Amino acid sequence: MSASTVAAMAPALDVAKIRRDFPILDRPVYDRRLAFLDSAASAQKPRQVIDTIRQAMEEEYANVHRGAYWLSQRATDRFETARETVARFLNAPSSDEIVFTRNTTEAINLVAASWGRTFLKEGDEVVISEIEHHANIVPWHLLKREKGIVLRVAPVDEAGNFLLDRFEDLLNDRTRLVAITHVSNAIGTIVPVAEVIRAAHRRDVPVLVDGSQAAPHMRVDVQALDADFYVFTGHKVYGPTGIGVLYGRSELLESMPPYQGGGEMIQTVSYEESTFKEPPFRFEAGTPAIVEAIGLGTAIDYLQALGWENVQANEQMLLQYATERLREIPGLRIVGTARDKAAILSFVMDCAHPHDIGTILDRSGVAIRAGHHCAQPLMERFELPATARASFGIYNTRDDVDQLTEALLQVREIFG
Ligand SMILES: *Cc1c(COP(=O)(O)O)cnc(C)c1O
Repeated sequence: MSASTVAAMAPALDVAKIRRDFPILDRPVYDRRLAFLDSAASAQKPRQVIDTIRQAMEEEYANVHRGAYWLSQRATDRFETARETVARFLNAPSSDEIVFTRNTTEAINLVAASWGRTFLKEGDEVVISEIEHHANIVPWHLLKREKGIVLRVAPVDEAGNFLLDRFEDLLNDRTRLVAITHVSNAIGTIVPVAEVIRAAHRRDVPVLVDGSQAAPHMRVDVQALDADFYVFTGHKVYGPTGIGVLYGRSELLESMPPYQGGGEMIQTVSYEESTFKEPPFRFEAGTPAIVEAIGLGTAIDYLQALGWENVQANEQMLLQYATERLREIPGLRIVGTARDKAAILSFVMDCAHPHDIGTILDRSGVAIRAGHHCAQPLMERFELPATARASFGIYNTRDDVDQLTEALLQVREIFG
């Protein structure tokens, strides 16, 4: 890409200002400027989120939903306001459809353990895809062992494009659920989930969407998508760890039994039996991640205030620029070149193993991920043990890409 094309694409995102909000980006690593290119594994946190958590703990902390005193009421208000923020973020019809979990993994396990155990039986089929994260494979394996359900896997082509026709061919009278990623964490493919959901709904099959990599990169509208379940994880949208989200359509959540028992989720308990609260509280046994939920609310406000068009323009510019620069490097091959792609760039080099690439880059201040990216079946599909992966977020710049490119040229020199 020419410099003028890049300049013409210059987004309305004030990245310099954003970078000042992320204290960690000023921290040198091995005396080198930090080029943080691993946001797909976990994103860094803006000062606003850090301050919110500190302020909540210093000034407004108590347990939620039970105290008769002012502090508890205040903490409860803030916790429930965060739930409303999440509902608006996903355009969910009601905040009662937002269940707080620990992360995406727990959200999918909740659906498998509650909905799956209740409504699936031997021979029932669940359709996933070749580009799922282990979090959307293993919970279904557990049900396969327990119930004898059957997993069907929708393929991608050599470039990593999701094959909608081949997916539709897998739907049949035994299909009970489609559980599919919105964006691949390993190779960046954006799945046409609206079409996937339409095809599934023509057969009355509900759809769970794993939005872990979509929520940080694009506007998500569960009503426009008509998703039945939509999950994401707080730490990838610039929020804290320990907090995740399950959106579930109210009819579905209401039909589901609790999957964990304890405090917070009961109406009444005697020694003989318990009765349970309505969703979402039925699924939130025990003391929740209070300040983490409040911090997630702040992270979402921060992200949304930037404007999705601006966020996407910047990330697509970086993806294109990085793709061009990496293609200059002899012996480097990009893995995953789907037409619709989020700002995630997986690659291999003929001269070095991904782990060696990661180590050399680290010494140059460049943080990338090397490994199977919790997507071993996908690595198998591409006949690779691992890849190196650079992923971009709101704070990344062309300087980060240039630093990555220079470090890769060094790898070439050392191993080539
Ligand atoms: C990160 C990720 C997960 C798991 O998220 P956790 O926070 O580890 O639960 C699941 N699916 C995708 C696509 C991911 O990128």
